[in-house]
Amino acid sequence: MKRLFLLSSLMFVMTMNLSCRSEVVESKGNPLLEEWTTEFGVPPFDLIRAEHYEPAFEAAMQMHVDEINAIIRSEEEPTFDNVMLALDNAGVRLAEINLIFGMLSSSDLDDEMQEVQNRIMPRLEQHYNAIMLNDSLFQRVKAVYDRRAQFNLDDVQTRLVEKTYNDFVRSGALLEGEAKSRLMEINAELTALNIRFGNNLLAENGNFTMLLNESQMEGLPEGVRNQAQEAAVAAGKSGYLFTLDKPSMIPFLTYSPNRELRRQLYDGYLKRGDNDNEFDNKQIIEDMTRLRVEKAHLLGYKSYSHYVTADQMAGTPEAVYELLDEIWEPALESAKRELEEMKSLFAADHPEQVFESSDWWYYAEKVRKQKYQLDEEAVRKYLSLDNVRDGMFYLANRLYGISFRPITAPRYHKDCSVYQVLDTDQSHLGVLYLDPYPRKSKSGGAWCGYFTEQRYVDGERKAPVVGIVCNFTPPVGDTPSLLTFDEAETMFHEFGHALHFLFADVRYRSLAEVEGDFVELPSQIMENWAFEPEIMKVYATHYRSKEVIPDYLIEKIATASLFNQGFSTTELAAAALIDMDVHSMENFTDMDVRAFESYNLATRRGLIPEIAPRYRLPYFAHIFNGGYSSGYYFYLWAEVLDKDAFAAFKQSRDLCDKDLARSFRYDLLAQGGQRPGMEMYRKFRGADPDKLPMLKARGLWSEPVIVDSLATEPFNTAVEELSFGDEQ
Ligand SMILES: [Zn+2]
Repeated sequence: MKRLFLLSSLMFVMTMNLSCRSEVVESKGNPLLEEWTTEFGVPPFDLIRAEHYEPAFEAAMQMHVDEINAIIRSEEEPTFDNVMLALDNAGVRLAEINLIFGMLSSSDLDDEMQEVQNRIMPRLEQHYNAIMLNDSLFQRVKAVYDRRAQFNLDDVQTRLVEKTYNDFVRSGALLEGEAKSRLMEINAELTALNIRFGNNLLAENGNFTMLLNESQMEGLPEGVRNQAQEAAVAAGKSGYLFTLDKPSMIPFLTYSPNRELRRQLYDGYLKRGDNDNEFDNKQIIEDMTRLRVEKAHLLGYKSYSHYVTADQMAGTPEAVYELLDEIWEPALESAKRELEEMKSLFAADHPEQVFESSDWWYYAEKVRKQKYQLDEEAVRKYLSLDNVRDGMFYLANRLYGISFRPITAPRYHKDCSVYQVLDTDQSHLGVLYLDPYPRKSKSGGAWCGYFTEQRYVDGERKAPVVGIVCNFTPPVGDTPSLLTFDEAETMFHEFGHALHFLFADVRYRSLAEVEGDFVELPSQIMENWAFEPEIMKVYATHYRSKEVIPDYLIEKIATASLFNQGFSTTELAAAALIDMDVHSMENFTDMDVRAFESYNLATRRGLIPEIAPRYRLPYFAHIFNGGYSSGYYFYLWAEVLDKDAFAAFKQSRDLCDKDLARSFRYDLLAQGGQRPGMEMYRKFRGADPDKLPMLKARGLWSEPVIVDSLATEPFNTAVEELSFGDEQ
């Protein structure tokens, strides 16, 4: 995530003082501060221990401060090289330590690491803030920016100058006096609240478990039973244990006929951070919202959403609302039809009772079985983790000619497997770690990040080390890990992020990042290939018999792909909308979090009580403990791009068209943030993105209504006849 925080000279001095103490830190014996001798520049995970981080952070911050001071104190006229390039090259070691720490604190967090995190995060914010609010530094940046036309720069260099200047301004470099110190205070408070929000959520997740006996396990498939039994054993209990992690909760909601238990489990999930206990997040949400409004005003924006979107493809909150509003009505209508289909089945089981949100998965599965005769458990047997991994490696090879070679390398956990990624000419492209299974020390969900960044050193590309981290159904006994559709799709998704990082060929570190609403294009596009018959037949073989997945099953998967889309679009759009609603507040007024949610979703937009937003505010970590504040819409925005980009492959009649793939790699993936997202997209597609493929893929397209309302920027209005596969 981009760091948007800053500092006054007072804080700067403080940072320097603190950092000076670190000069006595012994770098010998601290693997984070030594040159690594590992093959391919992989971090020496086997040598890194929790106690190494703090001294390493301190020493690296000092190194960074020295580099910055050298830029400021230079007697030379400010130039591209002695300001922009020097800034870009500063803080490499700190970034490296931060990346490793960030990856490990989300995938392998113990108490010691958590303490380090609590201490070091505020220090780091302070450090970066100090740099971004350092006036002498900004004056040199501004001097180059103002004279950029005179330096004979190429496009990428110009973008570096403009982006650097813009980052300083967005961080408050143009503020003075009280306004500047107030911004500093706000940033510090936001950081502290952000950490508390995350810690509360972690505690709430851990505090809830549901231990069941044999008689309460009726209806649950063998895999689910085994997993729950192992979870109980791991917790030192007997029976079957369920938690609020989705791989544990969703199968229970889907298969258990015991309505009361379903309700108990889902209520536990919905109430995280909202239990009026010591881990309650409601006050934190209110405080963060108030501070973000104030911060936006200080920086000259009407609302926090205006501040965030100004730097994105969308440009304005209005453009975001326009997309979400267009999706909302048809999604909700479609969800209501799905509910009607379930209601008769529900009434037969529970006459006179009211359908609740915790009933949705169970009856949706019943309809799925009845209408599409698709049994997810049967499909899983073809989706072993190994198969899916081989499938995505195969796809990458077909598209881009790259290959993956298992290697032995230092690992931070025994569940990880490691691969060297080789380019078409067998040259080294990067290293990929896969860390698939849940554990107590890992955050929920799935993500992809990098341990070391791609950069240029003395004109040579230094390849990145990338990691995919998931919480997939683990192997049980002698049954391997068998993935659900969603999990297989997630795996392809994260792999798309990994390819984006692995292909990166970016000249300047500061231009590595793309716009937030572009980020999910490279990942989501991979989901389109996952269930294409041509690709599935290669990787989806039965884990025991090795039989290739039969055609009838592939067809059923395709027909069932639109099933429940009303529900999933509605819960996703509801989360995106509530995020926008919180952050587009122009003037803060006291908010009652529960009332805010219900007014904006139910009262104002008609959300039905049978559906909860994908994330309720008290556990919406993306926006209060992550980089998606006013950005949860990114997923839907990028979906317009990914569906339209995949349409190019469909139209070419070759799903793995080499020319298209080459353009997608070099014009788009390899560029990082060297060019604006829309410009890269147009270069690949030869046109503006079209919303229609996305609306169709979600089953939300109806000719007369949608075609008219498409006539809005920034997406184009072309209407094409396309058909699409799955999406999550
Ligand atoms: Zn993603």
